[in-house]
Amino acid sequence: MQSPDSAVPDGTNRSLELAISADGTPEPDRVYTIDARCGIAVRLRKGQVLRVINPSGHQVCDFWAFCAENLGEHLSMAHVHTSLGSIFPKVGDALVTNLRKPLLEIIEDTSPGVHDTIVACCDHARYRELGCEGYHDNCADNLRMAMSVIGLRAPRVPAPFNIWMNVPIAPDGGTRFAPPVSRPGDVIRMRTLSDAIAVMSACPQDMTEVNGDGVAPGILQFVVEDA
Ligand SMILES: [Zn+2]
Repeated sequence: MQSPDSAVPDGTNRSLELAISADGTPEPDRVYTIDARCGIAVRLRKGQVLRVINPSGHQVCDFWAFCAENLGEHLSMAHVHTSLGSIFPKVGDALVTNLRKPLLEIIEDTSPGVHDTIVACCDHARYRELGCEGYHDNCADNLRMAMSVIGLRAPRVPAPFNIWMNVPIAPDGGTRFAPPVSRPGDVIRMRTLSDAIAVMSACPQDMTEVNGDGVAPGILQFVVEDA
């Protein structure tokens, strides 16, 4: 049964051991690895740049960012759609919060720019729906665990920015899941416009091909560059 407390995971994994520091403050320019199927939260100061790296090219990063001073304010994909007039953020675009404040700006994207902003992150219920009977690692729990190990509570699980996730949209509005078109070593860089807590999950989805066809979910890496 799923927990009624939004901050409590339905199960656990190694995300509980992956805090980069007690409060999530990073060492600038250090390359951190997010283990396959796990999540990490990082504290970003205004002006810092977060570089997310896709070593295999086929791994999706479910991404969230919360305002450091008020976790009730966070990136909101529905508000991003309104702000951009598009469902596909690109270089030069600012990602806004549920209070319409620009929080991060995409300043570089070496991939073909195919990312998803419409699909919910995977969670316990999704794997049940797909026929999984036991516990399956999932992005919602990775977010909850990544926040809890740096002393925070995820107030909810917002709709994620699914970096490198390929969800083609048909003219009739139909959607489907397709393998990423990103390539090994692709990076996306985002400048922090206001102090934030960013959370990245190396999506453990292995029951659809969102993380590549016939390959196991892989690692991600990230670096925080000082202003
Ligand atoms: Zn996922």
